[in-house]
Amino acid sequence: MPRCPKCGKEISSLDLDVTVRADVGRSYNVSYNPVKNSLDRTDNEVEDVIDVRDTLSESYCCPECSNEVAETYDEALEFFKGGE
Ligand SMILES: [Zn+2]
Repeated sequence: MPRCPKCGKEISSLDLDVTVRADVGRSYNVSYNPVKNSLDRTDNEVEDVIDVRDTLSESYCCPECSNEVAETYDEALEFFKGGE
């Protein structure tokens, strides 16, 4: 098994943190209020919609010490190959 370059422990997996760009939408229910002549939101009908766009960055971290071991898929692959 490969060893973490930071803490020296043998690790068989990595923790992957992915930063993505996303659009967050919010759906409301609106109804017409004739007294105020306005559209009122019915806030208890809120529904959040997260639409993930693309991956901005990846961080492969040691599960033992949480330090970053690799920044890309290929680097992480090399990390495991090099530890054979
Ligand atoms: Zn470590």
